[in-house]
Amino acid sequence: MTDKLSRRGFLGAASGITAGAMLVPGISRGIGAPAVHVRQSSKNIAVASGNGLRAVTKAGELLAQGVDTLDAAIEGVKIQELDPNDMSVGYGGRPNEHGVVQLDASCMHGPTRRAGAVGALEGIKTPSVVAKYVLLYTNHIMLVGEGAKKFALSYGFKEEDLMTERSRESWLRWRANRGPDDDWIDVERDEPMVPRPTGTINCNVVNANGDISSVTTTSGLAWKIPGRVGDSPIIGAGQYTDNDVGAAGSTGRGESNIMVCGAFLTVESMRRGHTPTDAAIETLRRVVTASEPRLLDERGRPRFGLSFYAVSKAGEFGAATFYPSRYAAFDGEEASRPDTAYLYERDS
Ligand code: ASP
Repeated sequence: MTDKLSRRGFLGAASGITAGAMLVPGISRGIGAPAVHVRQSSKNIAVASGNGLRAVTKAGELLAQGVDTLDAAIEGVKIQELDPNDMSVGYGGRPNEHGVVQLDASCMHGPTRRAGAVGALEGIKTPSVVAKYVLLYTNHIMLVGEGAKKFALSYGFKEEDLMTERSRESWLRWRANRGPDDDWIDVERDEPMVPRPTGTINCNVVNANGDISSVTTTSGLAWKIPGRVGDSPIIGAGQYTDNDVGAAGSTGRGESNIMVCGAFLTVESMRRGHTPTDAAIETLRRVVTASEPRLLDERGRPRFGLSFYAVSKAGEFGAATFYPSRYAAFDGEEASRPDTAYLYERDS
């Protein structure tokens, strides 16, 4: 079995969903959702977190060849998953408290209205692809832990040690410096412990036919409690696609995103007419109002990071963060790292 799936394969796998269900360009009607009228993108667009320049470049190339939107997005983020020098995603990702790498990923395919996800997956370098297999071949949406691993192995994914020398070193230093009362002798730190390093890649794609997909993949919060699952594999938090409206996804403090179903909320704001950038900003405002006081500073500003990236069916795109930052975008012609919209100026 190949993990390259043609558009025909997708439609075939999605029994009951036929090309006849596609919507008339210009008038888009969600199932059970309010009617929306949108222009349809005439370009191939990909938007990703700031670490996703290679991902959007790859996705742009594949979309130009007519590759399906979900395949394009996943091929993009896979570059990061397989890169041993990237300590935020897939192979070489930072491990949990016990030194075990546990990966989360989810994806959605707009045309077939399908979703797939894996949580706390161990030993497999490309959780985004395993999530796609859940989407394609099961009646379920999320598989976790041992079950997710066995599922992946059944399709021929290889079990491998996901720790690299660098990620192990990083974890050992963290363990050694945990606190004054632990039994480990302190060693010099090579990186600050607060804020804890995190990382994720999200990629959202719309093609020139107005078809949309999204994917998010992560090793999650570094040194997390074993079994902790963040927002990335949660449909509607880590990413969300509605083929009538657009797609959105997130990186940053997962727990704060889960509290507002941030990717879903962003897409719903676009449904009501907001641009992707305004929708992402609105979601961040909601996150602030939903935050416990301990997570905010004395001026009510978040002590954590969270970002949203979005594309609309019309091909508009944008991103928002609490503080000035950058994201990655392919605008139909070239890939770049534009500035995000943001809520707060950084203290100088
Ligand atoms: N969102 C990820 C999580 O909470 C982490 C990150 O993006 O930094 O698992």
